[in-house]
Amino acid sequence: MKQGTGKAVYPGIAIGPVYVYQKAAAPVQAQSCGAEKEKAAFDAACETAKAQLAALYEKAAKELGEEHAQIFDVQRMMLEDLDFLEDVEARINSGTAAVQAVHETGEMLAAVFAGMEDSYLQARAADMRDIAARVVKVLSPEEAAFTMDEPGILVADDLNPSETVQLPKDKILAFVTKGGSLNSHTAILARMMNLPSLVQADLEPDEALNGKIMIVDGKKGCYWLEPDEKTLEEKTAQQAKEQKEKQALEAYRGKPTVTKKGQTVKLYANIGKPEDVKAVLEGDAEGVGLMRSEFLYLGRTDFPTEEELYEAYRDVVVGLQGRPVVIRTLDIGADKQVDYFGLEHEENPALGYRGIRICLTRDDIFRPQMRAIYRAAALGKVYAMFPMIISVQEVRKIKAFCEKIQAELKVEGLPCGEVELGIMIETPAAAVISRELAKEVQFFSVGTNDLTQYTLAIDRQNTNLDEFYDAHHPAVLELLRMIAENAHKEGIWAGICGELGADPTLTETFLQMGYDELSVSPGRVLELRKKICESEG
Ligand code: PEP
Ligand code: MG
Repeated sequence: MKQGTGKAVYPGIAIGPVYVYQKAAAPVQAQSCGAEKEKAAFDAACETAKAQLAALYEKAAKELGEEHAQIFDVQRMMLEDLDFLEDVEARINSGTAAVQAVHETGEMLAAVFAGMEDSYLQARAADMRDIAARVVKVLSPEEAAFTMDEPGILVADDLNPSETVQLPKDKILAFVTKGGSLNSHTAILARMMNLPSLVQADLEPDEALNGKIMIVDGKKGCYWLEPDEKTLEEKTAQQAKEQKEKQALEAYRGKPTVTKKGQTVKLYANIGKPEDVKAVLEGDAEGVGLMRSEFLYLGRTDFPTEEELYEAYRDVVVGLQGRPVVIRTLDIGADKQVDYFGLEHEENPALGYRGIRICLTRDDIFRPQMRAIYRAAALGKVYAMFPMIISVQEVRKIKAFCEKIQAELKVEGLPCGEVELGIMIETPAAAVISRELAKEVQFFSVGTNDLTQYTLAIDRQNTNLDEFYDAHHPAVLELLRMIAENAHKEGIWAGICGELGADPTLTETFLQMGYDELSVSPGRVLELRKKICESEG
């Protein structure tokens, strides 16, 4: 038996066989199969990439107009450019594998573009990377899909959001990762799925572990590999006891969330995809307080169309059977990177081009989302929420854009519902000017994960800083108090959708601050309802 530790992400006991998740090797490590073969593979990959770009042009022209489709034509021409082709061939001739040659040429030419004076040409650096990534993807052997034959414990080095979206979630009993932080999106996903999980475990995700029995204690932050009989017996008994306690929470199912003195709080759930609605209903949440739209963009090779977004939002609205949903527009960037966005490498991505900054500068990305949101609102109660706000001007631009979208849909005769607009308060700037912002919108939801990161100047992803990351810091709590007060002064409601909202040691504090809504992982709803109903406040 080996006993080890990790940081506890979500409480509970899981027992089952290990499945080790191995990342696909980086394509740039490929070996050359000889210049001739590599050249033939490169030529074929270019043809496939050109066909993909032509299809993208058609799709974009149809959905967004010729003007927005032009970029795919420009990329196709860049792919045919002799500088690009000759440089790749020269690298192949000197013994480099095609996949690596394309990557290197792409990086080299992107750097040349980035160094140009003309801002139009500078912007082509991102296109160059995008083209190279497309060809690399075509040249890379298909990654074998990760499968699990039976329920088990997933052990991995670390998992990025686009990997987690592709996992066979119904088979996972627990996550144990060597890397990852308590605030990473993988940890958020584990909480969303109610899975006892550990990050930063002292464990190598070696294939030799496959099939070995493991016990995970997500509360204590421990695991046991090949446990002895006594441990197995003890932990099985503990698991049964916890399940009984969970059973007792069932008394709160369907009950209103109201304190003894009559203060009502809405208990909503956080989700990423339509499939998560099942967990919302099982968890007895009163609605969805945060649908992270970026999950609709992860694990794909191209942007979702308006129709795909609409179908996803529609499935959520319909699935919720009358309960409301707060749809947050995409918050890509920072820790959630997607290759096809072709975003430039940034020194400080958490402080960079992310969230609303992308939407406000990329009509082609913002428009399909807002159109899909307004269309889905024809079927139920929908709120739209915008991330990473720092100014009143941004909010006014969003409102003007939304008006344009509504008018557009009307002209086209498409069904379009009422959407209340709100913002995330997750930057200290937004918290400080929350009184002004409250005059512009219909609700606030506090993103405590980012608000803590930006207030304390601590990267939420940096695992070495966990001991400094204090979400109970008086500065964070003071901002939270101020935000609720300013919202109420202007007559709007305020909620919390960051992880702190589920912290039972702060429930009383949030009640005193007057928060109207808490949006948490679906599995935490009943526990928090019990806490609120038992509160004297
Ligand atoms: C937050 O920042 O608290 C939040 C809810 O948004 P995300 O975790 O997706 O950044
Ligand atoms: Mg955030």
